[in-house]
Amino acid sequence: MKNMMHNKVSRLSSFIAICILFLLVTGNGLFAEKPYAVVIHGGAGNIAKESLSPEQIEEYNMKLAEALNAAEEILKTGGTSLDAVEAATRILEDSPLFNAGKGAVFNIDGKNELDASIMCGLTNNAGAVAGITTVRNPITAARMVMENSAHVLLTGKGAETFAYEHGLDIVDPGYFFDQRRWNQYREFIRNNVNRSRSDFDMKDDNIKMGTVGAVALDIHGNIAAATSTGGMVGKRYGRIGDSPIIGAGTYARNDACGVSATGHGEYFIRNLVAYDIAARMLYNGQTLQDAAYHNIMEKLVDQGANGGIIAIDKDANVVMEFNTTAMFRGFVKSTGEKGVWIFEE
Ligand code: ASP
Repeated sequence: MKNMMHNKVSRLSSFIAICILFLLVTGNGLFAEKPYAVVIHGGAGNIAKESLSPEQIEEYNMKLAEALNAAEEILKTGGTSLDAVEAATRILEDSPLFNAGKGAVFNIDGKNELDASIMCGLTNNAGAVAGITTVRNPITAARMVMENSAHVLLTGKGAETFAYEHGLDIVDPGYFFDQRRWNQYREFIRNNVNRSRSDFDMKDDNIKMGTVGAVALDIHGNIAAATSTGGMVGKRYGRIGDSPIIGAGTYARNDACGVSATGHGEYFIRNLVAYDIAARMLYNGQTLQDAAYHNIMEKLVDQGANGGIIAIDKDANVVMEFNTTAMFRGFVKSTGEKGVWIFEE
């Protein structure tokens, strides 16, 4: 009797062991790994391939890879999409290669004014800062606004005081200086010397490169998006672009997608590009790819506006759409797919 019992129990445990093994091997069902994905951008623009040396391309690719790796490290150990997008964005902000944080473009008065925003697709909460000049990592200030204030968007001195009071890294405005950006600014001034201020050529293709952004889906199914920028070279003092405007340059909701944009901000604001992509998915049943294509390749192109977006939907589909010749970009997925790119493929 005892023996029969023993046999039954051991048969049952072998059966359970085989089931577990099957589930683990096939990757389906109970023990399936939840997918994660992160996509980043470092700005879109019309740049000729020949204008970047192989060394410069390597430098950009390595910085993009560094930001992706930092985000992936967080995601694969069960961290949140918010932590992942903030970490990736901070790395790009700290690099003078991109138009965000250190290395931001100069406004018409030769100053750096920074904008950033972040959104959590789980809670619908968002935070943003605009026109700040002394906070080393604007994206962290944006997150601080989201998590530690009753507001969504703080600007200028008010945002800086808030960041200071919350212990963020405050720097001298000179910290953001980059010689390459200064030369770009001087060239902008030269090209516009005969124009009145209201008539500045803000559509010059080379003037808006390097805004940064990140979108991530974590293993808990939560999506987050972040964007940070110095705006457009030669912008008027006080001009705020799309990057800190929730729904224009940044948007996230778990039941649709997360989006971070780059390009001619005024058009992204008028068209509420990031929100429109999510809305098309929700109310029109469009795929992320179709919704992004419509906005970037049809609507913006019809209006004569340059730019692109990166996005992830709730099923970990990644989209990187741009209507320029280049967009610094890359993604990593839990499936092992990964890469960084600059020009059209
Ligand atoms: N969208 C940014 C702005 O208009 C610029 C950029 O993406 O390069 O401020």
